[in-house]
Amino acid sequence: MKNIYEKSVPGRRGVDPGTAKKETEKKLADRYRRISDNGLPELSELDVIRHYIRLSQLNFSVDTHFYPLGSCTMKYNPKVNEALSSLPGFAGTHPFMAYLDVDAVQGSLELIYSLSELLAEITGMKGVTTQPYAGAHGELTGILLMAAYHGTKGNRKKYVIVPDEAHGTNPASAAMGGFSVISIPVDRDGGMDVNIFREKMSDEVAGVMLTLPNTLGLFPRNISEIVKIAKKHDALLYNDGANLNAILGKARPGDIGFDIVHMNLHKTFATPHGGGGPGAGVVAVSEKLVDFLPVPIVTKTKGGAYTLDFKVKRSIGRVASFFGNFAVLVRAYAYIMMLGREGLTDASEKAVLNANYIRVKLKKYYDAPFDRNCMHECVFSARRQVQKYGVHAIDIAKALIERGIHPPTIYFPLVVDEALMIEPTETESKETLDEFIRAMVEIAETAEKNPGMLKNAPENTPVSRPDETKAARELKLTCNR
Ligand SMILES: *Cc1c(COP(=O)(O)O)cnc(C)c1O
Repeated sequence: MKNIYEKSVPGRRGVDPGTAKKETEKKLADRYRRISDNGLPELSELDVIRHYIRLSQLNFSVDTHFYPLGSCTMKYNPKVNEALSSLPGFAGTHPFMAYLDVDAVQGSLELIYSLSELLAEITGMKGVTTQPYAGAHGELTGILLMAAYHGTKGNRKKYVIVPDEAHGTNPASAAMGGFSVISIPVDRDGGMDVNIFREKMSDEVAGVMLTLPNTLGLFPRNISEIVKIAKKHDALLYNDGANLNAILGKARPGDIGFDIVHMNLHKTFATPHGGGGPGAGVVAVSEKLVDFLPVPIVTKTKGGAYTLDFKVKRSIGRVASFFGNFAVLVRAYAYIMMLGREGLTDASEKAVLNANYIRVKLKKYYDAPFDRNCMHECVFSARRQVQKYGVHAIDIAKALIERGIHPPTIYFPLVVDEALMIEPTETESKETLDEFIRAMVEIAETAEKNPGMLKNAPENTPVSRPDETKAARELKLTCNR
């Protein structure tokens, strides 16, 4: 297939600007004119449309394929949220307007204010910042809040405790915030080993970061004990709530005893995730941290108008320009208002039901390292396939691609050998889940009878199996022209 440069024909145009071009050129001073060819391909509008549509079809996407990528919540996001976030009043407003003329942006400020209230209620917290641009950015914000809190109290704190089964960004955020990380292994139940935790706990620990549900898709059974131990040492409890779709309407981090929680609106609340697109790692905090939140905070006056408060007493300052990724906030607000209390609870129930359906249907075929009810995702290990047939998690992933299914997350969490981390999400039908289960069973049977067949998969895709080492070492990002 020719690439877009090879399709170029000198002089071919998509649009003929006619005399407008000549008129504009007349007005341009010579020094602003291009003197060399810009090197762009010359094509008709149809050529361009076909080029981009074809490229989009070479990809996997939630709109085209089942996408059970664990921890990423690749669910279907209703298109109405896209339409609402593109309304000219939202999309066309420059964020500077909020500083120039607060009266001109009352609607946008109301949306930020109301969304913050909704998220505070959903998490059982007292204050919210919408600034962070991503989950990891929310974590860093949380760690800075922790440092500010202990700093003000004169606490001498050096460490943040992170269990082994936490998301990989957690220890990185704690380290970026200036703390040393103490890791705690998982126990046989798939949660943090509470005995080792108790041993490592001291007055020098600033906080405990728990991914909840954890990356094994499990809810820790010993959570109340962990909370009690942490509070005894005035360590703050941080909840990585990126995967909040597991507990909406069922459990609130604030009620459990957490002081800080970040949410990934770009997973749970209807912005498509993946591809490095815009995100929002909104952070909610308990009463004792409200005075440290980033400024400005959107507040409501007695008269009902919305305004910006820059005078938060001990604010850690800004963590982002303006108010974060505003269009993501609009989508989240629309999604929450559309689903309501019952709808959000129902979404979580379906997310958990779907994951458990897959877990139970596949546990005969793949090893389940922790055989108990899971939350929004289930984790298998391909160790049986490796030991008996030399088939690895990567081969299973590639075989799924051949069958038109995006692979689950593989080789993560690190605490599971040859991990396959499957998150079906709440938006998939039973028929789709059954199709996935059939593919996984068929792959397990092929591994047994004809393992060689899985080694070359995928063979029917635009790119078959690349040499991944070579691709990393000799990265080529341009076409040969
Ligand atoms: C996705 C995720 C993160 C990181 O979020 P980003 O927006 O990618 O920075 C952190 N923790 C958990 C549990 C996640 O699933």
